[in-house]
Formats: sequence, structure tokens, C-alpha cells
Amino acid sequence: TQQSSIALNDGRSIPQVGLGVWQVPDDVATNAVQEALKVGYRHVDTAAIYENERGTGAGLRGADVPRDQLFVTTKLWNENQGFDQTLRAFDESLSRLGLDFVDLYLIHWPSPRRGLFVDTWKAFIRLREEGRARSIGVSNFTVEHLDQLISETGVAPVLNQIELHPRFQQRDLRHAHAERGIATQSWSPLGQGQLLTDPVITRIAEKHGKSPAQIIIRWHIDSGLVVIPKSVTPSRIAENIDVFGFQLGADDMEAIAQLDAADGRIGPDPMTATF
Ligand code: NAD
Repeated sequence: TQQSSIALNDGRSIPQVGLGVWQVPDDVATNAVQEALKVGYRHVDTAAIYENERGTGAGLRGADVPRDQLFVTTKLWNENQGFDQTLRAFDESLSRLGLDFVDLYLIHWPSPRRGLFVDTWKAFIRLREEGRARSIGVSNFTVEHLDQLISETGVAPVLNQIELHPRFQQRDLRHAHAERGIATQSWSPLGQGQLLTDPVITRIAEKHGKSPAQIIIRWHIDSGLVVIPKSVTPSRIAENIDVFGFQLGADDMEAIAQLDAADGRIGPDPMTATF
């Protein structure tokens, strides 16, 4: 597998396809990560709230891949926002992972009602200066939240991880990211599996002799996005990264563009989420 990567605004880069492990039990995560590494993944996306940092870390450490070739992301949970709490929570994540640094640390949600994401970001900047978080970013931030971070600290996140799939394409936010040098990472890239039976997707899949998941993942890649599909099934884990040997046509990209829907969001809206 010839993986591609995306340049980040801090001079580092991120492999474009990673394994997501939301809703993967701790003891299952180890095997899923090892299966992924075997078939060429070098990027894994976990979070403190997923309660599988231990299993994920065991999978990463148990494999034969040198640490400097891995890209490991974890996220700070909302309850731990605030400067001191963030530093403590980060230490706990690192220790559960069994690592001495992560490649990317994300603020999981802005949680605007707490009013703490700027203080949290200041702690993230310190963690980056210490080299324990090589890159720092955010998740589920709106453009207003991004601009507040940038104007109050002068440091833009390397990326914003947001819900993004063919039915919810986030064109305005992606445009705002591009203007600010922020990469876009797609969560629930397959629409939590719901998009795999979409007739437009299945038609394109049949035409190329590929699976619906491969078509959607290829669409994310060709759209310049970083993508983290989740699976614990070895054959699907392998299939989801076997996407570099074919290309979508302009007609395919156009047909998928048409699937965008104003009400296509599946997960919580960051502006109204109560956690
Ligand atoms: P997804 O869109 O990746 O879909 C996953 C589901 O699709 C799987 O449960 C499986 O049923 C199915 N699937 C996967 N590959 C398949 C294949 N090849 N063939 C058939 N079915 C297949 O959904 P997700 O888990 O919600 O999102 C991916 C990752 O994004 C998560 O694991 C997590 O790492 C991240 N995420 C982040 C946030 C956030 O707030 N930052 C929120 C949700 C998810």
C-alpha cells in the first residue's frame, strides 16, 4: 500500500488514512490496531473518552513498526478542559497509551458553555513546546471557535476533526480551514456505515469493481481530507486502506458532490451539544 500524507501548518505531516477506534472495546482495540499495522496503516485515532487508550497503546507497542513511523492521535475529554486539568489529563492519556509522546493531541469538543477552550489551548501549546504532543489540533470547532483560538493565542490548530461524509460535506467550514491553513479530518467518514448502501455509491462501486467503502474513502482522499474509517474486522480494515490502486473520475466526483444534504448530519451539533 502506497499511503499518501497531508502537510500540516507546523511543518509536520499526517498519513491520509488512519484507523478510528470509537466504540471499540479496550481488549478488542489491541488486535484491531495490530491488524491495521500489518496491512499498512501507520495512523490510529483514539480518545480518552473511548476508554481504549490502553488497548490501543498495547497494539501499537506490540507491533514491529518503529515509533517514528507511527502517527498516534488522542483527544482531551470535555470534563478535563482548563489549563491545569488538561496537563493532568494528558499525562494520564500518555500513561494509558504507554507512550512518551503523541503525534497529535486534539480538544475533543469546544464545549462553549464551559468557556474553557482558550485556556485549554494554552496548555496544548505548552505540551507542544515540551515535545510531548508533536502537533496540536481541535475537533468539532466552528469557524468562530477557531478564530477565537487564533486571535487569543496566535496559534492555529494543525487540523479540525469534524463530521464529514458524502451526505454532510461541510463545504463552508472546509473553505474557512483552507483560508487559515488548517487541514480537515473527516470523522464518521462512512456516515457510520449508513452511506454504504446509497445507490449512487453502490453504482460507482460496481463500475470500478470496488466496495462502497473504498469508493467513499477514495472520495475523501481525492477531496484532500484526512480520513479515519473504523472497523474491527480484519478484512474490512484491509479493504479500507486498499484504495490507492484506482481513481475516481470527474463524473464520479460530481455524482458524489450531489449527495450533500443540509440535514445530513448524523452526530451532535457542536453548537448545541450539552456535554
Ligand atoms: P465510520 O463512518 O468510520 O463507520 C464505521 C462503521 O462502518 C463500522 O462500524 C462498520 O459497521 C462499517 N464499516 C467500516 N468499514 C466497512 C467496510 N469496509 N465494509 C462494510 N462496512 C464497513 O464511523 P465512526 O466510527 O463513527 O467514525 C470513524 C472514526 O472517527 C471513529 O472511530 C473515531 O475515531 C472518529 N470519530 C470522532 C468523533 C469526534 O467527535 N471527534 C466522532 C465520531 C467519530
